Amino acid sequence: MALLALLASAGSLAATPWQKITQPIGGSAQSIGAFSNGCIVGAEALPLSAPGYQVMRTDQRRYFGHPDLVQFIQRLSNQVHNKGMGTVLIGDMGMPAGGRFNGGHASHQTGLDVDIFLQLPQTRWTSSQLLKPQALDLVASDGKHVVPSLWSPQISQLIKLAAEDSEVTRIFVNPAIKQQLCLDAGSDRQWLRKVRPWFQHRAHMHVRLRCPAGSLECE
Ligand SMILES: [Zn+2]
Repeated sequence: MALLALLASAGSLAATPWQKITQPIGGSAQSIGAFSNGCIVGAEALPLSAPGYQVMRTDQRRYFGHPDLVQFIQRLSNQVHNKGMGTVLIGDMGMPAGGRFNGGHASHQTGLDVDIFLQLPQTRWTSSQLLKPQALDLVASDGKHVVPSLWSPQISQLIKLAAEDSEVTRIFVNPAIKQQLCLDAGSDRQWLRKVRPWFQHRAHMHVRLRCPAGSLECE
């Protein structure tokens, strides 16, 4: 009965039962199942204050993930920060136990996915900007090109740094953004293989890590 009540109330709020779980499930970190149908034990919260990144929409509490994901975000942000490229803006990771959110994403379920904005502000955002982030649509209305006034070499560099990380298996961006990356890349092109064109993804990149070594049920 309790489960039925939970499911009924979840339905009325258009939330999933996973969204009722407010704390990670204890245990050693295990990503279980597939990116679009899975969960996570032993998730960590991304620390909300750091010199190199800021976390958006913390009211949604989607800043949990496998420790590998937390470490990847810290590694990438430190590189960006040390190069003076600006602040990395972190969007959805996963929920405390993973699983499905209402609306939007089908993936982000195993604690190995993160959305990162394709803008690198030089001044840190205020808490109200972080709660209602303004996405920057980098793709022109014809869908074929990036908007030149919004594009910068730092955005290519950000995606390249992420792609060169050995834990990263895939990065999804809009086809127009992928095309611009190919134009910007010059002779160093190996990293582009991880960057896949995908619909939408006009203002952010979706970064996916490989299954962690200890997660035997990760698909
Ligand atoms: Zn995503």
